[in-house]
Amino acid sequence: MSKHVCIICGYAYDGALSFDELPSDYVCPICGVNKDKFDVLAHDFKEAFLKIDYGLYVITSKDGDRDNGCVIDALMQLTDNPPSVAFSINKGNMTHQFLKNSKEFNISILTKAAPKELFRTFSAKSGRDFNKFEEFTDTKRSKNGILYISKYCNARLSGKIFDEIDAGTHTLFRGEITETEDINNMDTLTYSEYRSEAKYKQMFCFQCQQTAKGSGCTMSGVCGKKPDTAHEQDVLTCEMISLAKAVQGKTLGLVAIDLIVDGLFSTVTNVNFDTAKVSALTGEIRYERKRLGGSEAIKPDELFSGDKDIVSLRSTLLFGLRGMAAYAHHARILGKRSERVDSWFVKGMASLVESHTIGEWLALLMEFGGINLDCMALLESANISTYGNPSPTSVSFGVEKGPFIVITGHDLHDLQMLLEQTDGRGVNIYTHGEMLPAHGYPALKKYKHLKGHYGTAWQNQQNEFKNLPAPIIWTTNCIMPPKESYADRVYTTSVVEYPNTKHIPASKTGNKDFSSLIAHAIALGGFSEDKTFTGLNGGTETITGFGKQTILDNAGTIIDAVKAKAIKHFFLVGGCDGAQPGRSYYTEFVKQTPKDTVVLTLACGKFRFNDINAGTIGPFPRILDMGQCNDAYGAVQVAIALAGAFNCGVNDLPLTLVLSWYEQKAVCILLTLLSLGIKNIFIGPSLPAFISPNVLNVLVEKFSLTPISSPEADLKKILPN
Ligand code: SF4
Ligand code: SF4
Repeated sequence: MSKHVCIICGYAYDGALSFDELPSDYVCPICGVNKDKFDVLAHDFKEAFLKIDYGLYVITSKDGDRDNGCVIDALMQLTDNPPSVAFSINKGNMTHQFLKNSKEFNISILTKAAPKELFRTFSAKSGRDFNKFEEFTDTKRSKNGILYISKYCNARLSGKIFDEIDAGTHTLFRGEITETEDINNMDTLTYSEYRSEAKYKQMFCFQCQQTAKGSGCTMSGVCGKKPDTAHEQDVLTCEMISLAKAVQGKTLGLVAIDLIVDGLFSTVTNVNFDTAKVSALTGEIRYERKRLGGSEAIKPDELFSGDKDIVSLRSTLLFGLRGMAAYAHHARILGKRSERVDSWFVKGMASLVESHTIGEWLALLMEFGGINLDCMALLESANISTYGNPSPTSVSFGVEKGPFIVITGHDLHDLQMLLEQTDGRGVNIYTHGEMLPAHGYPALKKYKHLKGHYGTAWQNQQNEFKNLPAPIIWTTNCIMPPKESYADRVYTTSVVEYPNTKHIPASKTGNKDFSSLIAHAIALGGFSEDKTFTGLNGGTETITGFGKQTILDNAGTIIDAVKAKAIKHFFLVGGCDGAQPGRSYYTEFVKQTPKDTVVLTLACGKFRFNDINAGTIGPFPRILDMGQCNDAYGAVQVAIALAGAFNCGVNDLPLTLVLSWYEQKAVCILLTLLSLGIKNIFIGPSLPAFISPNVLNVLVEKFSLTPISSPEADLKKILPN
């Protein structure tokens, strides 16, 4: 029977039931991830093979002026006289090609002191993408002119290939040893030690709500992020910090700012899974940092190490900056930028490696919250000046027959370009996830072929896309590792990247050519008849477009309703959604809100309840969809306006914020709300792993930040009578 292994913590399921018979809500007993995070160990021979032990070696070769090398384990001594060895190497490796061409090699025998960085360079990356010896510099050249590893190596063999045997995916080379060097007496590192040593456990990431065991992803990301990508994102972050230090105090260069913004956005959860692309961006940033005379970047291991509370505060700022970068990126695409926001990216990134007391860190976080408010305001004005003020719009969940494209993510500009290019082509457009609020904007809903909304929020994409006769394009997060059933229909653009999927780049002027996507939609043909789909609660449509202006235009009616006690309380229930079962709290919470209360909502958390018919209050539905996560700015403005009308503070209004968080945009929005002094926010489904107990105490004491409990208990707390 094939075995199932948790890809997050390595736990191998060994129960009495077959894995397929386990209930769908089965979770890993070690790290708590869902059933879909288990992989089949298709062939048990793999496990037996893992028990063969080897040494580990870096084999290097040269082709013309170019050096390259990679880690191998399959090496054996063949004969003493003449001294000869045999080794096998995968044909896909660039080093394989170098060996075939030059017939010469060096083998460096690695010791137990070899750091994981060496494996990242020589094992995880391809020489086709970059020069490995620029990254790893502890090398020397031997007499044959080939580089070898001079540190973390106890001996070096130089040789010439005299025979090759084709072994399918690999070539078995035989080589005569022409020179050896005995470097030191340290023990050779074995493959089994490499697999079991904690120092080679590959990553640390705790930036999102679904982090493994509620503390940090260390083996592989619950989101699907692999250790190499996580490491490359840490290197990218360190380079951005150094670039920020290099430009600090100088005239603000837009190249540096844009690189920092795009780099930060690339590291947000579920944005960029392509190690090579992240590495290429790091290269651009490194080049710019060097050009500006900046000093060497800090080591990735330093990012999340040190005093717990300082790491917590530093991480909070870093993750908040990552979230704000998404908003700044969208505003920039629409031609809006602010010097105050831009310069704060530099200040914020540079401050990550400065020493601050806890009080200074908290002040910095509050200052950042205020800047993020500016950034959200900038994006709101960019959206409104480009697409008009959103107005209430009914959106169907059904899909009409004929070719169509599903567009997801948050980028309205991409949607607009796609609508223009599909106009009159017989291809309909459906939004997914956070693209839903696009239907409310006049300049977008004027396109008759913007038909409706397919599916729900991001975490359901693997189910919702598997049988769809249409391609899907991700304009921003949240992309999940595509399942085989739809991987060939996945398109990405902008900072979103997933290896081996089709990416649509922007031209120098920002234009995108969607013709391949459109041709794919036409070839697939869509459904042969109209289809009815529903939201998560069985509703066939939803209403979006209750933007700030719509609500403010009706402020008089709302105020009168509050005074007449027709509206008893407002809830803002929203934020990022995720996959955890506990998130049904938000559905239940909304269902249990009294009929004389209004539920404002935004971001993808709304899909938990946006198809429920909760009735009306006066001219409005009881559930008012205010838009995407960045439209939290509009919600804040509405709250401030209502407080003005009632001559009280926002905290005195009959208003409670019940937020769900998942990724880093939620972090910057929370910091904005706290910087405005908004108290008594309920937050869930769990508290951020990067908030240390001491920092949490401060937030609870100062802002009465409250973890959610049950809908019944929380509603009782909020509305005791
Ligand atoms: S983004 Fe979240 S799930 Fe992904 S590796 Fe980081 S903490 Fe884990
Ligand atoms: S609101 Fe957050 S979780 Fe939801 S799609 Fe947007 S980025 Fe992802």
